[in-house]
Amino acid sequence: MKLVFIGPPGVGKGTYAQAVSQRFQIPHISTGDIFREEVKRGSELGRKVQYYLERGLLVPDEIVVEVVKARLSQDDCRRGFILDGFPRTLAQAEALEGFAPPDLVLNFVADDSVIVERLSGRRVCSKCGAIYHVKYMPPRFPGTCDKCGAPLVVRKDDRPEVIAERLALYREQFSPIISYYERRGKLVTISANAQAPEVIPVVISTIERFLRGRGQL
Ligand code: AMP
Repeated sequence: MKLVFIGPPGVGKGTYAQAVSQRFQIPHISTGDIFREEVKRGSELGRKVQYYLERGLLVPDEIVVEVVKARLSQDDCRRGFILDGFPRTLAQAEALEGFAPPDLVLNFVADDSVIVERLSGRRVCSKCGAIYHVKYMPPRFPGTCDKCGAPLVVRKDDRPEVIAERLALYREQFSPIISYYERRGKLVTISANAQAPEVIPVVISTIERFLRGRGQL
């Protein structure tokens, strides 16, 4: 099951991806997470992409496509994958169509007010990347990851002053990609205004319905 998740920052993609990954035993691959990890490690790739990440610019297509191609060729992707944050340009979408055409593209939508509330309360584990929300998904001990005990942090780009800018950039970047998959009949739009416990079953049943339609479930 090759899936692409599309949605504005804060729509809850990471949370839905975790649930889908567990249910269907396919890895959740976020290009943003891969790049952040490489920057943290100080690898050659990390040094190359740091410039773009720090400025919120897109990493050049050639680099991103190579990274994704290499990741998807790993063993754990044999049964499928969830791509999150890729493709982000038409060139990336076309490249993906060439080496691993997605079966289904889930387009998550939510009102701006919902997104702003989610992003400003989001906390991320500084070590394992687990995601929390101060109100909707608080950790057992404030500021501490339930899974590994490391401190929780606010992602630099979740600061309120940059959220509006990120939303506008998202719309500009993704509208051609949404149209691209719509034209190919691969797009399903899911409303994510409700909280995750309500949205997750809708996501799972959408995928199950699709698999059943193909006789794969
Ligand atoms: P994200 O966590 O998805 O917001 O990604 C963080 C940063 O990683 C972005 O601001 C870009 O600099 C870079 N990035 C992630 N995915 C891509 C992509 N598909 N194409 C270009 N740059 C990307």
